[in-house]
Amino acid sequence: MTDFPNTPSLDPENWDKFRARAHHMLDSAIDQMARSGTGKVWTAPPEDLKKCPPVPVQGDSAATDAQMTALLPYGVGNTHPRFFGWVHGSGTPSNIIADMVAAAMNANLGGRDHGAIYVEKQVVSWCKAIFGFPDTASGLVVSGTSIATLIALKSARDRMNNFAARTSGVQPGLVGYTSTQTHSCVARTFDMLGLGSDALRKIPVNDAFEMDTVALQAAIASDRAAGLKPFAIIGTAGAVNVGAIDDLDTLADIAATENLWFHVDGAFGATAILSDQIKPRLSGLTRADSIAFDFHKWLHVNYDAGFILIRDEDAHRRAFSERPDYLAAAERGLAAGNPWPTEYGPELSRGFRALKIWAQLMEHGTDKLGQLISQNCEQAQYLADQVTAHSAFELCAPVALNICCFRFVAPDVDLCKLNAEIVVRLQLDGVAAPSTTILNGNTVIRVNITNHRTAYTDLDVLLTATHKIGTQLLQERIFATA
Ligand SMILES: *Cc1c(COP(=O)(O)O)cnc(C)c1O
Repeated sequence: MTDFPNTPSLDPENWDKFRARAHHMLDSAIDQMARSGTGKVWTAPPEDLKKCPPVPVQGDSAATDAQMTALLPYGVGNTHPRFFGWVHGSGTPSNIIADMVAAAMNANLGGRDHGAIYVEKQVVSWCKAIFGFPDTASGLVVSGTSIATLIALKSARDRMNNFAARTSGVQPGLVGYTSTQTHSCVARTFDMLGLGSDALRKIPVNDAFEMDTVALQAAIASDRAAGLKPFAIIGTAGAVNVGAIDDLDTLADIAATENLWFHVDGAFGATAILSDQIKPRLSGLTRADSIAFDFHKWLHVNYDAGFILIRDEDAHRRAFSERPDYLAAAERGLAAGNPWPTEYGPELSRGFRALKIWAQLMEHGTDKLGQLISQNCEQAQYLADQVTAHSAFELCAPVALNICCFRFVAPDVDLCKLNAEIVVRLQLDGVAAPSTTILNGNTVIRVNITNHRTAYTDLDVLLTATHKIGTQLLQERIFATA
């Protein structure tokens, strides 16, 4: 039998030409990474790039490559050593290699018996070992902490009434507890789980921005007295505003006494368990029922790469497992390899995120990754020392981890507007990219260092530029109050 002439194909006609084209693009990608320490931190995307061309009816590989190459310089800036905004990982060049291998395999990690599945299983085993969880625990590679939180709290919710919520709907009266410093994804999870975000009690914090555990116990008692059903405490290891770590051991004690699920949002902070300096402060982590964290933040795996680790494998699986006939398990062949990852989360088809995580840990090792975390914490402390020593600056919160919040101060001026403007100008100038937050009602400059490329001199550059812009704004008098 012969092939029909002119049948369309998505494979190259000439593999040698394809190889040359791919090499060229790989060079462009590597050049981009090699340049990450130079130039502006962020450049606003040009108008050309924002325009949407018509739906491409006829394909064009040369135009495709040209436009992808043109796109390369317009990232958010998180690969640059002076990117200090929000909590972003800075990535590594080696991620390019892992993503290339993953693309060549085009693996679907929903389940079945194939090589990629074993890579994810190794990542799961390593996570259990790193966080001191038992071999019987379960885990899943996910897109980020937001979805990890949803998976953990659905497991917690469903275990409360023997998984009946899966078929008969959510029982009324469930409530959970977290601090006012919690990330917005926790309330969003309560919303998505049908509990409503009001069912998430936001407990006040102490001067160090850690959950007030006495107020927590009082809130649980008062909810029980009102006939409600507490089911979970959500602690934070590394809160977004100032990097505070809740007193996890006390939260674990309270959860044990009250028979509640103890979840920890450790999006970036949990990975500080790899730092010898920070590890002692995270001892309560090993007692959690579940930990949500990201590889794409402080472990510098490229976006997106998060993880959920759950102590009670049975609860985790029973909250998600659903195997229709066409996905039935088998002892042998491709449909073997049970249980499947799809039984531990909401997705069936799943990409091979596990490979870039596996490769990052394999290539660099937990020692070096941990040292870089320690270094970022020391840098945040260094920045705080510089701020404190300078009369034009005010430190706005103690440095708990890797985040330093401060502001430029002067009399007779709206300091909130002034500091917000300083941050915008720093970003527009491309000299550095911190972000802002609000502490005790004041807008402050927030410098988050989850960046393996940051050097101490980058922090000096930031402070010098901040001072220069602040002084200039004072001269312009646009935010003057007197
Ligand atoms: C980033 C972050 C999240 C959300 O994680 P994603 O990976 O962006 O979904 C949740 N909690 C904290 C403390 C974070 O820093």
